[in-house]
Amino acid sequence: STSLSGRKVAVFGLAKSGVAALRLLLQHGAKVTALDARSEDALGDVAKELKAKGVTLVTGATPEGLLTRQDLVVVSPGVPLSLPELEAARTSGVPVWGEIELAWRFLELGGATRLLGITGTNGKSTTTALTGELFARGGQRTFVGGNLGRPLAEAAVSPGDWDALVVELSSFQLEGIHTLRPLGSAILNLTPDHLDRYADQGEYGAAKARIFMNQDAGRDFAVVNADDAAVMSLAVSARAPVYGFSLTGRPVVDAPKLAGLAVAQDGGFRLEFSGEDFTLTNRALRGAHNAQNAMAAALLARLGGVSRDAVQAGLDSYPGLPHRLESVRVLDGVEWVNDSKATNVDSVLVALRAFAGNVWLIAGGKGKGAPYAPMVEAGQGKVKGVLTIGQDADALARAYANEAPVHACGTLDAAVAKARGLAKAGDTVLLSPACASYDQFKNFEDRGDTFKRLVGAL
Ligand code: ADP
Repeated sequence: STSLSGRKVAVFGLAKSGVAALRLLLQHGAKVTALDARSEDALGDVAKELKAKGVTLVTGATPEGLLTRQDLVVVSPGVPLSLPELEAARTSGVPVWGEIELAWRFLELGGATRLLGITGTNGKSTTTALTGELFARGGQRTFVGGNLGRPLAEAAVSPGDWDALVVELSSFQLEGIHTLRPLGSAILNLTPDHLDRYADQGEYGAAKARIFMNQDAGRDFAVVNADDAAVMSLAVSARAPVYGFSLTGRPVVDAPKLAGLAVAQDGGFRLEFSGEDFTLTNRALRGAHNAQNAMAAALLARLGGVSRDAVQAGLDSYPGLPHRLESVRVLDGVEWVNDSKATNVDSVLVALRAFAGNVWLIAGGKGKGAPYAPMVEAGQGKVKGVLTIGQDADALARAYANEAPVHACGTLDAAVAKARGLAKAGDTVLLSPACASYDQFKNFEDRGDTFKRLVGAL
């Protein structure tokens, strides 16, 4: 047991991470109060579980003074740290930790300190899952989670189980860390995002750069996208040696001195500092963006002690995440690809760049108001036809009017049937919608699963 035994701890926010934090705190004998803005009814089974365990449950607005009376407040990543009641707690000297920080304290106590932390605007989940695959291939007992899949607090329940912790970290989670010290940290890229929650891009970048702040020059290392000027300007704050990855081999200028570089080459990439070559032939990792993700993962793994052969084996065996350029089926020479996670125009650009041509694009849904012109341009000479679905079908049809034949299908069902008739051997049918799914589906997973079912039934 630890110093939290018998102490008063409030957990703010009862989604997956908050509940995992709560279980960890109960394991260590804390006196826990749980808060959530949602009603007890809306919390459902979670509320029942907590009450059965003797947790004090407070729903709705936070009662005045409740947090300032605690010994510690732990917050879920969904809860903004700028809330007035959290501000008040900090002012009165109550520590406020994110769920990741809490988990880290118990992991560290239990001796599980080999943590690989991955952040960035895009590619976090892919890189995290792939890095996990590489460490597992290397024979390490590997926890994969954080912002993706299982909360880190679940790993902290049994620190002795893990040789390596591969953790996806959102900027919100990084705001709530204080002592988290990754053995290897990675920032993949930095593009405008979440400006709803951050005052400006500088604040967003500063949150991401927290991943470096406790790293040690002697033991640890940082991995960054050497082609991304915004990332490189954050890397200046890293004390640990910085390793870069680059598609071009010409990293941006004004960068900190790199300890080493990984560079993409035909059919794979090379670690210049060690002279090691890796091949990248796995279909689940096609596209230049995935070459970046693969270089980041390989650097984390090699520098984190995984053998060269295990890294290559993991690059080859990585199964891919569902709904991200996921190859569903090859039927009569036509490949069907599920990229339902592409809910915005930028993601469709990335997807189209991954194909040489002969693409039938299924797109549409609940539009986000961004212009479609960039994806029309990226698809020039590659897109043989567009099959539209959902609310934004007309806007898509207008954007493609002079570029490619447009077939208004309305539903995914109709689009799959239509594509089956149009596509010839050697073609690809790509569901990469550029839109949210909520007009016709529960979420992007539901949309992708529906596509897979329809394609499977052809
Ligand atoms: P995240 O967890 O950061 O959302 P994912 O791995 O789930 O990232 O990928 C989400 C989407 O982001 C992908 O479908 C792809 O369109 C795009 N993407 C993936 N990796 C990169 C990258 N390295 N650079 C730019 N875009 C990427």
